[in-house]
Amino acid sequence: MSKQHHSVLIIGGGAAGVSVANNMRRQNAAIDIAIVEPSEKHYYQPGFTIIGGGAYTLKQTTKKEADLIHPTVKWIKDHAASFHPDDNTVTLRSGEAVSYDYLVVCPGLQLDWDKIQGLRETLGKNKVCSNYSPDTVEYTWECIKNMASGTALFTQPPMPIKCAGAPQKIMYLAADRFRKKGILDKFTIEFCNAGGVLFGVPFFAKALSKVVADYGIKTSFNCNLVAVDGPAQTAVFDVTDNEGNKQQISKTFDMLHVTPPQSAPDFIKQSPLANAAGWVDVNDKTLQHAKYGNIFGLGDACSTSNAKTAAAVRKQVPVVVDNILALMDSKQPVEGYDGYGSCPLTTSLSTVMLAEFSYAGKVTPSFPFLDPRKNRFIWWLGKTTGFPWLYWHIMLKGYRIDIPHRESYAQRFMDEA
Ligand SMILES: Cc1cc2nc3c(=O)[nH]c(=O)nc-3n(C[C@H](O)[C@H](O)[C@H](O)COP(=O)(O)OP(=O)(O)OC[C@H]3O[C@@H](n4cnc5c(N)ncnc54)[C@H](O)[C@@H]3O)c2cc1C
Repeated sequence: MSKQHHSVLIIGGGAAGVSVANNMRRQNAAIDIAIVEPSEKHYYQPGFTIIGGGAYTLKQTTKKEADLIHPTVKWIKDHAASFHPDDNTVTLRSGEAVSYDYLVVCPGLQLDWDKIQGLRETLGKNKVCSNYSPDTVEYTWECIKNMASGTALFTQPPMPIKCAGAPQKIMYLAADRFRKKGILDKFTIEFCNAGGVLFGVPFFAKALSKVVADYGIKTSFNCNLVAVDGPAQTAVFDVTDNEGNKQQISKTFDMLHVTPPQSAPDFIKQSPLANAAGWVDVNDKTLQHAKYGNIFGLGDACSTSNAKTAAAVRKQVPVVVDNILALMDSKQPVEGYDGYGSCPLTTSLSTVMLAEFSYAGKVTPSFPFLDPRKNRFIWWLGKTTGFPWLYWHIMLKGYRIDIPHRESYAQRFMDEA
């Protein structure tokens, strides 16, 4: 017999988990909700890019988890360890079992630092940095700030990763810093991308290639970081040519920004909730589990093919909440999620290209009259001020503001593409 039972049990108290709990609480104050979340700190991860670029601080991206979860939502400060969906039970790392009527699974994704040989030992020193962890993001800015010349390498691992634009966003911020100091010509900047294109949505990839050219950045595709020797400042890449031939290439660097390989958390991969690739196997429109009707998944951990972003979470939350409420009311879940995700591409220290898109790379802007490929100051203000405010004060607090995004808004710009 379980010690604890909750009507709605949420695994993970990040962007998705806190938003679902607080949103559901606002819809119905009587539901018994609990969140399993081990961390005392909550990070606004989209801010990590601008910390690395020296335009934001770690303090601005960090809040206490306790201040975010509604007081009437029970916080279980532990890790979920295993799932027993046939018994409607989750076992925690402490060994305790918690049962539920409805389960929401959103523990984010796992950063696989150890897939790159030598990285763990050198990360945070020897000019090897990464925006992907709160422990290393400030070191990115230290590296950029202190460089006067040399080779700066920026890596991107195979997809999927969270915020697919983040590996290149920090590169543009670094290049703009060097330009502002009048030393850009003293640098060789190279984007070493395990994939074959600059960005997954061609509409934006074309516009980004102009940004790359403007900074004089070299792009190397199908070039996957596999090992780092920090003291020797050497990085090793698996490189595949157009004929499919593979070879290893070694590059020296004066600064290396690493985006680590990413995958579903191991405890999800090993669970009955996972699909073949390890992600929580959900319907891409209802976010209901493919096999277990009382389980939902959202955020970075789920199997949907959208861009893994907080922007996607914002659109997924009401779908999950409404569908659980519908099931409680003996109604059917609705197909409410269209794959929306967004990536504010920081193309300089004062401009952003606001990429918004849905399933199958459909360009779906929220602003009807603004060409989304333009580098704009107004969107930089969004990135540094507006979006963090929306995150902390609207999304996490469980309010709903539906800013509609439409394919039709992009049509006139498509014709010009
Ligand atoms: C460098 C960087 C730049 C980004 N830029 C942007 C951007 O510009 N725009 C944008 O929209 N998004 C951006 N993102 C992505 C965005 O932050 C994520 O997509 C979003 O946080 C996903 O929310 P989530 O709740 O699924 O995961 P998370 O917010 O990562 O939360 C997962 C939570 O689950 C918890 N957890 C882990 N394991 C367990 C367990 N066993 N049991 C219980 N809980 C567990 C974790 O402690 C964590 O609190 C960026 C991310 C990074 C790293």
